[in-house]
Amino acid sequence: MSASVSRRTFLGIAGGAVSVLGLAACGGNNAASDDANTASGDADGKTYLVATDTTFAPFEFTNEAGEFVGIDVDILAAIAADQGFAYELNSLGFDAAVAALESNQADAVIAGMSITPEREEKYDFSDAYYDSYVCAAAVDGGDVTSLEGLAGQKVACKTGTQSASWAESIKDQYGFEITYFDTSDMMYQDVLTGNTAACFEDYPVMAYGVAQGNGLSIIGTDEDEFATPYGFAVMKGKNSELIEMFNTGLANIRESGEYDEIVAKYLEA
Ligand code: GLN
Repeated sequence: MSASVSRRTFLGIAGGAVSVLGLAACGGNNAASDDANTASGDADGKTYLVATDTTFAPFEFTNEAGEFVGIDVDILAAIAADQGFAYELNSLGFDAAVAALESNQADAVIAGMSITPEREEKYDFSDAYYDSYVCAAAVDGGDVTSLEGLAGQKVACKTGTQSASWAESIKDQYGFEITYFDTSDMMYQDVLTGNTAACFEDYPVMAYGVAQGNGLSIIGTDEDEFATPYGFAVMKGKNSELIEMFNTGLANIRESGEYDEIVAKYLEA
């Protein structure tokens, strides 16, 4: 697999001493690459299929070493190790991950997925594991420095996301049109090349990107109506044992300090 492949599969087996994440030997969970373990399941033989996004740093992304890493990736690995369940992590894109869940091709989604009342009608969420809200960003040092500057312009949104819902809710007020993209990196690129005047994104993700020097600057936020924490999701009424294990494991890794170590690893790097 190369870094340019956008659809990847990572296996996590945790039930004994071994925790495997395919080629992603990410830290924090002492993951070791061991192909012999990637084909087997846990003691009960069940390997949960978990779908995720492709480029949503610091929650999931491919690092410079070509490893698929992130807060979601490490939290899931740590919880699976704590609870002793096996899983396979598929990096599909946000909208595609939700579609996989709905079409029974995935058991769960972990993708910086916001817990919203509308989604709670269709999915069961774990306890919240990260707070988030939404923002808009334009080229750093460019002409657009506020939402008012978007009048008559096109903006970039990622299909099916909360930040897209925010953009849709204010587009008439500010007078902009929306172009949709499947991934965050395509959206940022479109703004950097000047096709769209701004993009809409989750604040923690954009703030991380800005800090990494992605060339964008935040021009507006909604910290009230579109403030929604992230949760791990399954289809309503299905895989309830997985949600229970996730919640118990999450409480355990918060208690042990592992959760804080994972977050600090990405945010203080
Ligand atoms: N938190 C946002 C949502 O759930 C975006 C998630 C993502 O793009 N991975 O809609």
